[in-house]
Amino acid sequence: MTGMKWWGWGEDGVSFVHDDKPALAPFLKRALDLDADEVTARPPAFEELDVPKPRLGESLEAALADAVGPGWLSVDAFDRLVHARGKSLRDLVRQRRGELGRLPDAVVRPADEGQVEAVLRAVLDADAVLVPFGGGTSISGSLEAAPDERRAVVSLDLSRLSRVLAVDATARLARIEAGALGPDLERQLTAQGWTLGHFPDSFAHSTLGGWIATRSSGMQSDRYGDIADLTRAVRVATPAGLLATRPVPATSTGPSVREMVLGSEGRLGVITEATVHVRRVPPRRLILGYLFPSWAEGLAAMQAIAASEAQASVTRVSDAAETSFSFATRKDPTPRDRLMSGALRTYLTRRRGFDVDAMCLSFVGYEGSERHVATQRRHVGRIVGRHGGVCIGGSPGELYDQKKFDTPYIRDFLLDRGALADVSETAAPWSRLGAVYDAAMAAAHGAFHRLGVRGYAMCHLSHSYHSGACLYFTFAFKPTSGGDELAQYDTVKSAIQQSFVDSGATLSHHHAVGTEHAQWLEQDLSAPGVALLHGLFDGIDPGHNLNPGKIV
Ligand SMILES: Cc1cc2nc3c(=O)[nH]c(=O)nc-3n(C[C@H](O)[C@H](O)[C@H](O)COP(=O)(O)OP(=O)(O)OC[C@H]3O[C@@H](n4cnc5c(N)ncnc54)[C@H](O)[C@@H]3O)c2cc1C
Repeated sequence: MTGMKWWGWGEDGVSFVHDDKPALAPFLKRALDLDADEVTARPPAFEELDVPKPRLGESLEAALADAVGPGWLSVDAFDRLVHARGKSLRDLVRQRRGELGRLPDAVVRPADEGQVEAVLRAVLDADAVLVPFGGGTSISGSLEAAPDERRAVVSLDLSRLSRVLAVDATARLARIEAGALGPDLERQLTAQGWTLGHFPDSFAHSTLGGWIATRSSGMQSDRYGDIADLTRAVRVATPAGLLATRPVPATSTGPSVREMVLGSEGRLGVITEATVHVRRVPPRRLILGYLFPSWAEGLAAMQAIAASEAQASVTRVSDAAETSFSFATRKDPTPRDRLMSGALRTYLTRRRGFDVDAMCLSFVGYEGSERHVATQRRHVGRIVGRHGGVCIGGSPGELYDQKKFDTPYIRDFLLDRGALADVSETAAPWSRLGAVYDAAMAAAHGAFHRLGVRGYAMCHLSHSYHSGACLYFTFAFKPTSGGDELAQYDTVKSAIQQSFVDSGATLSHHHAVGTEHAQWLEQDLSAPGVALLHGLFDGIDPGHNLNPGKIV
């Protein structure tokens, strides 16, 4: 059974609190007109929900039980509920309203590839629908069956396929089962001195197969690459049989079948296993904090780092709005912290001419031998200096590293207080990033204005590449009372997404298409691009039994 809350992010019993962060309540009041102490909404108890009965059919039930063994087929109401959706804002709002949508009729947990194939055969024979389920952290509506789906819906939970099968130390490749959660696979790899180096913010609850099926990107992607770079080979149970690509470093076998599986969101089959790059656990990891006088200087510095010989593992800079938010979520400072930040403030404003409202917080990560880290640090230090930036040491970086997996809990905290918060992220060439940022910010604030709400939008750059980078926007607002909050949310989210494609950026850098982003696909890929995807899905799955309706 997945350990996540059915109505929110993360473990039951763990939540975001503000009592230990004295600057947060005033910040929320200012930014959103939100009272941090006033809880206005709570999710209903599970017992209050009206969970529809499963519609599996006797013969499919028997075939599935046969495929996985009777203990591993579940029609339990709670189990079906937690497998029905992911963790997008729309998912959370509807769960909290008790609007459950089209639940799967059964959840199956195969133990191995053979059982996955047997489940797929049973589903196809019954003309049912199969939805692969990794960790359930999808943020783009990739898991939910269509509300009018009349066929039986089966959620295939991969949690029992969680082993690192083998490490080829010479090739630096590991064969890993697709259901392994981030912490599980890293634990197994680090026990042998290896790491995959893929750390998305959803790391604790997402799986290797889910990362591949959504083209995920992790925090240290500057050094390790995105999951698309890390994945050398895949094994996929498809309606046409078992698809297996070879773990070769490069190949000239026509359009890349491996690439077709990347980002396929369950539409081509069930990924059972992948062969991925692994690296030796680095002897030294360091994340340093920097402050830049402005967003423009911060962006220019990140671009210069990407174009230089420096090999940072993390490059990240927040705009002034996100910098203010980060400072507002700091825990109660000790007297020494207060003294230090007072001294830093004086230095920045008096000696360096910083405007504190415009300054931008940045993190740059380094990994490798002590010597390598020291050299890279010097390289980056010179670039930062040329852009007016200042190093503020290792503590902010350490804090960020510790906090990053807790940040997702804030969304539930805000929902409890009647505010909506979500993200939209994109990628664009360096030459367009400034314009993409300006367009998205104008779109967000324009939407807040049209709705007549006080909203907050903020952004950071992360995941730098040769030719460009990812921009990650977070927005929040308190919907007007009496209005349809999801319609208001759509106004803001759609405005930002539209600004991406209008300004030459992509609809998503690493959150996939699902149903949330599908309406922008043709503008992103062109009509023939979408026709190719239709051909691919129709070719392998003519009955549309595999997670239909996602991507296109
Ligand atoms: C708070 C939060 C933070 C996030 N941070 C990041 C981040 O930093 N980086 C990032 O890349 N993403 C992030 N995401 C998005 C999400 O975590 C990723 O899309 C992740 O890759 C999904 O993995 P999962 O195992 O949870 O897959 P699921 O959500 O279970 O499934 C996602 C899609 O993949 C398909 N799928 C899953 N497993 C398989 C399989 N074995 N075979 C075939 N299809 C499969 C599903 O059918 C579905 O279409 C975040 C999401 C949230 C809610």
